[in-house]
Amino acid sequence: MKSGICPKCNSTEILSQLPLHGGEGHPPYVDIVQPEPPNRPFIWLAQSEQSQFTAYICGACGYTEFYAVRYQALNEGYKKGFKSRW
Ligand SMILES: [Zn+2]
Repeated sequence: MKSGICPKCNSTEILSQLPLHGGEGHPPYVDIVQPEPPNRPFIWLAQSEQSQFTAYICGACGYTEFYAVRYQALNEGYKKGFKSRW
């Protein structure tokens, strides 16, 4: 989809990078959080990374793909052991 071609119907009429709306108060997102260290310092705040999504929609057949906006930050957090809260 990011290449501008629908993988389902080969159309090139792609609506790109449309933000998602809806949800309870804010758009859907993912959230990963640093686990608590074994020797937790007195003052410690968990680091976290969040990302919303952007949609690529085929204008010919409606096929849609979602991409995380902050995928690089998510990937860095994931490599550091961050996990989803639930
Ligand atoms: Zn299509």
